Amino acid sequence: QVTIVGSSNVDITALMARLPGPGETVLADSYQLSPGGKGANQALAAQLAGAATEFIGAVGNDSHSAIALGQLEDAGVKLDRVARTEQPTGVAIIQVDSAAENSIAVISGANSTVTAQAVQAAGAIEGILVLQGEIPASGIKAAMDGATQRIVLNLAPVIELDREYLLKANPLVVNEHEAALILQQLDGSETMSTEAEPVIAQKLMAHGLASLVITLGANGCLVAEQGSGIQQLPAVKVKAVDTTGAGDAFTGAVAARLANGDDLVQAAEFAGKFAALTVQAHGAQASYPRSLQNL
Ligand code: ADP
Repeated sequence: QVTIVGSSNVDITALMARLPGPGETVLADSYQLSPGGKGANQALAAQLAGAATEFIGAVGNDSHSAIALGQLEDAGVKLDRVARTEQPTGVAIIQVDSAAENSIAVISGANSTVTAQAVQAAGAIEGILVLQGEIPASGIKAAMDGATQRIVLNLAPVIELDREYLLKANPLVVNEHEAALILQQLDGSETMSTEAEPVIAQKLMAHGLASLVITLGANGCLVAEQGSGIQQLPAVKVKAVDTTGAGDAFTGAVAARLANGDDLVQAAEFAGKFAALTVQAHGAQASYPRSLQNL
């Protein structure tokens, strides 16, 4: 089993020739409402990758909640412990221009209520726990304190988290940029490291992490485990049309395979194939494979 404690959002994406400047109105060509939020994306990925998955989070008492949770419900993710709050369902307002440049405003809404108190009230956490950086740090820490199995931490976005909690990650799953930011946090350094990813991986591991995966987009990922060094796994060669949600697909799939007994390298290999399928279709959750036949 996999339990995800995290965020769920509705993404409102408007497509337009160019982004508006301050004070300006532009007419957009079209818009889409789609489910998003790293927690919800990862929950869908974990379920589709073959693990019985529960999502614990919060949505509002509003019509957006049905959009935020719809795909999870259809896929059979357990949602009994998703709270309904006074705060609205989280929303990301995304503007995309014809060159695929974007500007994004996120309103956390209900996600900001997933605090220590809310997580403790939700009760026992079963199976592998998966966390991201889109809920308050107090909620993340409370979930970690309640975990009974290994913890997959995708600290995206990178928020302040005490060292002792960061080091509970097994693995920490982050992209290159996030890896450098977390190293800066752990080093207490003024500047972000610009060193090559394997060096950053080595330095992160030297802080005492049990394991680490750094995702490298089309270059695959690095897998590091205490006592067995660092290994680079290549990505599957595919024609990418939209990489939105690829990182979340990867993290959810890693957790699912760990829950099913894979070791970390096997889980990351599978997740790479799973994520490669998602970059060949548009959208985040919409691009996740509903069948594992091609894997
Ligand atoms: P994020 O979106 O969080 O920065 P990445 O871009 O590193 O995450 O992508 C996560 C994973 O998705 C990669 O490790 C890789 O396995 C897969 N992936 C991403 N982009 C591609 C691509 N162009 N081709 C094949 N696989 C990809």
